[in-house]
Amino acid sequence: MATIIDGKQVAASIKGEVARETARIKEERGETVGLAVVLVGADPASQVYVRLKKKDCEEVGITSFGYDLPATTPMEELLALIDRLNADPAVNGILVQLPLPKGMDEDLVLDRIAVEKDVDGFHPANVGLLSQKKATLAACTPAGCIELLDRYHVPIEGAHAVVVGRSNIVGKPLAMMLINRSATVTVAHSRTRDLASVTRQADILLAAVGKAKMITADMVKPGAVVIDVGTTKVGDKLCGDVDFDAVKEVASAITPVPGGVGPMTRAMLLANTLTAYKAQRGLPR
Ligand code: NDP
Repeated sequence: MATIIDGKQVAASIKGEVARETARIKEERGETVGLAVVLVGADPASQVYVRLKKKDCEEVGITSFGYDLPATTPMEELLALIDRLNADPAVNGILVQLPLPKGMDEDLVLDRIAVEKDVDGFHPANVGLLSQKKATLAACTPAGCIELLDRYHVPIEGAHAVVVGRSNIVGKPLAMMLINRSATVTVAHSRTRDLASVTRQADILLAAVGKAKMITADMVKPGAVVIDVGTTKVGDKLCGDVDFDAVKEVASAITPVPGGVGPMTRAMLLANTLTAYKAQRGLPR
């Protein structure tokens, strides 16, 4: 049976590391690391995510500045808020919770965030820097996947990594991070022919699709490491892209859903905020 990769535990370690650093910064420099969390509208799922992110900040000694705006907020007002946050030295990271209400241009908003405060790593400049292997801030979910592999000592260099999914927020940056770490990377998506023959080649299989249990045991090479990013609500339960019960009998290591990549995404946001603070103050990472 596979090793179960415990994202909750790794996330707790990362939070502990961030908390120690923020305490040290407070003591040595008298400063507090700050994250602005902007929520537009009243999407219930987004409200939950924002609440959790603020709670995470509190736990690690990062000050969160919450901005809850009505869905009817004019674009100029939202952009003006981002300009103010960009200029505020107490704000080291800016997070705009997605999705924005219908009719709002997400790209326009995300592109307005100062590159050095873009703790979600979605700004085109940070995406470009990632592709040049020069990124300071990179997307939290893919960064969390890499962190899990590293902390479980899974060798990435030279491994064949297959990423299923090519979105801008998960699949593509994940593939780029794996290339940067010298994996041989294949990216599969909805137009891929004979997906199973592709996934069976993976030493490391990473699924970021959003289709419950689509990765079945026959699609996994014996001994492969499987990272499941997918989250789909099935009834009142959260379900991954991977048929966990069957695949854990084939894989050498596997992340569960929940308790795998999810907690890592939240932890990496905190780590990115700390990284942003240090970069802004010219401190070593
Ligand atoms: P998107 O819907 O943006 O992308 C899904 C990708 O899967 C697309 O590239 C799509 O291909 C591909 N795909 C769809 N159907 C198939 C198929 N049958 N075979 C192969 N590939 C397929 O989703 P996201 O990248 O935003 O998210 C992916 C999943 O990860 C979701 O379940 C999401 O909830 C979850 N997620 C979890 C996070 C966490 O913290 N745990 C954070 C972010 C996301 P194509 O491009 O051709 O359409």
